[in-house]
Amino acid sequence: MNNYLKLLCFSMILFSFGCTHQTNTLFTEGKWIDLTHDFSEETIYWPTAEGFKLKTDYEGITEKGYYYSAYSYCSAEHGGTHLDAPIHFYKGRNTVDEIPVSQLIGEAIVVDVSETALANPDYQVSVADFEKWEASNGKIPDSSIVLLRTGYGKFWPDRVKYMGTDKRGPEAVKDLHFPGLHPDAAKWLTENRKINAIGLDTPSIDYGQSTHFESHQILFEHNVPAFENVANLEKLPVKGAFVVALPMKIKGGSGGPLRIVAYIK
Ligand SMILES: [Zn+2]
Repeated sequence: MNNYLKLLCFSMILFSFGCTHQTNTLFTEGKWIDLTHDFSEETIYWPTAEGFKLKTDYEGITEKGYYYSAYSYCSAEHGGTHLDAPIHFYKGRNTVDEIPVSQLIGEAIVVDVSETALANPDYQVSVADFEKWEASNGKIPDSSIVLLRTGYGKFWPDRVKYMGTDKRGPEAVKDLHFPGLHPDAAKWLTENRKINAIGLDTPSIDYGQSTHFESHQILFEHNVPAFENVANLEKLPVKGAFVVALPMKIKGGSGGPLRIVAYIK
């Protein structure tokens, strides 16, 4: 190897070392926002489901002198901040573990209907709400995660204010009042736009008074999963937030506890 080549190799090695010592700039300029309610005995579940349970298996100083804690938990798939997989309301569609990760990570848009919805707990987000959003912000980008801000997140964990009743059991379902997505809007979104997922700050993507859960059926037929009981939507911009929404990977599951976060600049 002649001297010139030796010098070239040496500087390339130096250059590559230099690169590995550069500061990581990914996700350093903005901040992360947690869109997840914590899981505890207070966590809101559907009136027919049992709540979250945490059992202490061990907590304290062991015989060997070190501290140790471990717990077991028990939970329905659909409670607290969680994901609905398409199989939840449509046979043959994706189970939780089958949803591509690429569908659960990406840019979000926030449609704020809180002014109207807080005045009417039976409000259903309409096609007109999406058209209004587009009139100000442009067409909903392909692969968007659509987040609906009804404003009800601020009532968590007060069941009466959040969902209309704190009664439990099948007879309480008729007393549920909270906003959701109108089936016509679910149809419009799935047929005219290409969204990856949808979420909102209420217990269900269909409003509280729904009896046949049509929006679930329409979205899930198109393999669009839903995030329910999402927190802190008032902290997000109307567009540009980067969302990561990863549920527990339950094989064959119809839904599961979800940790959803957003990065904003
Ligand atoms: Zn659900």
